[in-house]
Amino acid sequence: SALSLVRSELLRQHNFIDQQWRAGADERWLAVQDPATGMPFARVPDSTAADAAAAVEAAHAAFPAWRAFTGRERAQFLKRWHALILDNREDLARLISREQGKPLAEARGEVVYSASYVEWFAEEAPRLYGDVIPAPAPGRRMMMVREPVGVVAAITPWNFPAAMITRKIAPALAAGCTVVAKPAEDTPLTSLALVRLAQEAGFPAGVLNMVTAARERAAEVVDVWLADGRVRKLTFTGSTPVGKHLARESAATLKRVSMELGGNAPFIVFEDADLDAAVAGLMAAKFRNGGQTCVCPNRVFVHRAVHEDFVARLAEKVAALKVGPASRADSEIGPMINARAVDKIARHVEDALAHGARVVVGGERLPALGPNYYAPTLLTGVTAAMCCSREETFGPLVPISRFDDEAEVLAAANDTPFGLAAYFYSRDMARAWRVAGLLETGLVGINEGALAAEVAPFGGIKESGYGREGSRQGLEDYTQMKYLCQGSL
Ligand code: ADP
Repeated sequence: SALSLVRSELLRQHNFIDQQWRAGADERWLAVQDPATGMPFARVPDSTAADAAAAVEAAHAAFPAWRAFTGRERAQFLKRWHALILDNREDLARLISREQGKPLAEARGEVVYSASYVEWFAEEAPRLYGDVIPAPAPGRRMMMVREPVGVVAAITPWNFPAAMITRKIAPALAAGCTVVAKPAEDTPLTSLALVRLAQEAGFPAGVLNMVTAARERAAEVVDVWLADGRVRKLTFTGSTPVGKHLARESAATLKRVSMELGGNAPFIVFEDADLDAAVAGLMAAKFRNGGQTCVCPNRVFVHRAVHEDFVARLAEKVAALKVGPASRADSEIGPMINARAVDKIARHVEDALAHGARVVVGGERLPALGPNYYAPTLLTGVTAAMCCSREETFGPLVPISRFDDEAEVLAAANDTPFGLAAYFYSRDMARAWRVAGLLETGLVGINEGALAAEVAPFGGIKESGYGREGSRQGLEDYTQMKYLCQGSL
């Protein structure tokens, strides 16, 4: 095939429902496009409400037996899945690169990262502790136990086609939940390949179901899950408007909800920062996946005293980035996911320039490479009113603003409805604790640009969402507490 996979059976182009690979009920198809060229190269079902309903039916039927396994038993399935993901690392990386566009080295990194969640939750599955509560009166014993919430609906975005799936599905399965999932329309193939590996790992029928759909039919599929009272939890990563819509609709059946939504991460360089470390941290945080992650710094604030020096050092690194298709071994920045994404970056740059910002590096599309490329770009003189300061750009744009003091920059950093990640560089310990305490975000990088890890609770506050992924909390989010009281003792 055009994908040259070592194992062609990983190229799955059907839904997976109740252990069967099936076309959609009305046999309509969604074309999967290569973001580097815009050309279609595979197809998956454009599913209907009937397919969504069949998936819930299967997940609901599978739940009693799946929850009855011990945590250790469920861990065995997850460990096999983990090993299979790593065994198939190269094929999965090729699928990710092909449908999502990130360079192959980065895609290989994503496979390992995605597998780390499966391993972690396999390890956590036998450790789902409750509490023994000292009784306030004699003759009673009290305890709290954790139980799986039931059927979970998982809806994922395209920027980490493997990791977004495992971060949600591994803890759900570890906790004893069963799953219906819909991957992003841009990147269904990696998700389906992971499901194929789960099938090989031997998960029982109906425990994990996946349905694909075009953007136009995403709502038709997901609305079935929203309306069905048997779906007890919705876990979503994606844009804030869609997340708010799903949260509202979940209220009809009062589902539990986890939301990983947009960010608007500040990155602050104080006058006492180690500038080389700050440049390295910014490059790592900003240009991961071509700037298409929800924790990418979206606003960079640099103290007046080091501004010139910092911009000069950064400009050199940004100008040296190699842009190209994932198929070229030296590419560092691939294409953006689609035309909508490139248009947004171009709009943000135009708006900033119209309002007085200055281009230091880049500032243009790269049509010679393909339709979806945008040059790594460094702007200075950026202000809070510009679009790039208010909205998440989701691309290789570094917009720099100058600041004079700590209180001013903290106010600016927090002046957003979002609260996912924040980063700052300083060598002053008292300042580090003070600033870390005052930043209104769920994650803070202190002299560090790479935060995400399976062992740590990832998630936002304010309009960036609620719930945590990874860590012990990432498992607890798929459980509900039950309080047991035995009397007459
Ligand atoms: P992005 O703008 O990055 O594509 P979205 O929030 O639009 O982010 O998409 C994230 C996920 O939400 C995708 O799987 C997409 O298909 C799904 N989605 C988009 N719109 C809806 C909707 N109205 N109902 C349910 N799911 C949706």
